[in-house]
Amino acid sequence: ARRKYVVGNWKMNGLAASIDEARAIFDGARAYGAIDVALCPPFTLVAAMATATPEGAVGGQDCHSAASGAYTGSVSAPMLADAGAALVIVGHSERREGFGESDADVRAKAEAALAAGLAVILCVGEPRGVRESGGAIDYVLAQVAGSLPAEFDPARLAIAYEPIWAIGTGLVPTVGDVAAMHGAIRAQLDAQVGADAAAAMRLLYGGSVNGDNAAELLGAGDVDGALVGGASLTAEKFLPIVAAAA
Ligand code: 13P
Repeated sequence: ARRKYVVGNWKMNGLAASIDEARAIFDGARAYGAIDVALCPPFTLVAAMATATPEGAVGGQDCHSAASGAYTGSVSAPMLADAGAALVIVGHSERREGFGESDADVRAKAEAALAAGLAVILCVGEPRGVRESGGAIDYVLAQVAGSLPAEFDPARLAIAYEPIWAIGTGLVPTVGDVAAMHGAIRAQLDAQVGADAAAAMRLLYGGSVNGDNAAELLGAGDVDGALVGGASLTAEKFLPIVAAAA
């Protein structure tokens, strides 16, 4: 069985003082036992948070596909691992849209992360217009086909389905729509990487997850966890989501 996985993406939020909040989150999460919890703070906090929290539970929000070089402002996967990160998010829509990252870019980043020993959370998701025109499943399956690495350990790569129109808006798809999308992703993985790998991979839902809707969203078919933005910044908001996953 796949262990539930609840991951907080702090985006561009958090200062050194926020390490206390991360500690409170992991202390509180311990009560829920057999569930994986991780936080992805800004790069500036990765090392300090990794030192202050349980092993293997801190990640980056992006990485470059090269290991080193003349890429001003970028951080590589080996650098993240060196700072104590155990995972990294790649392909978030705020990077695909805001920084022009293509499926090929995302795939190269995922491959670099795996090569550096990091686990990967690979994000996909459709814009509002695509959802409204009925093309969401085709759009997302094309993203999965184009951004998934050629080879990987299925235990170390999760896919997060984050409809762009649900991010930070308070809007969420119906549970039926989430189940249909996750089922379609699982079926495509089955064809793309084989039944055993597809069955081992965790599929997370992200987009306006909160303590009130988490139980319903996490109960949808083929949903193995959540990728949480705004509600991951405090223990008060995040722990009810962890509780709902347990
Ligand atoms: P919100 O939970 O703030 O909608 O953000 C979701 C997200 O983008 C997580 O990566």
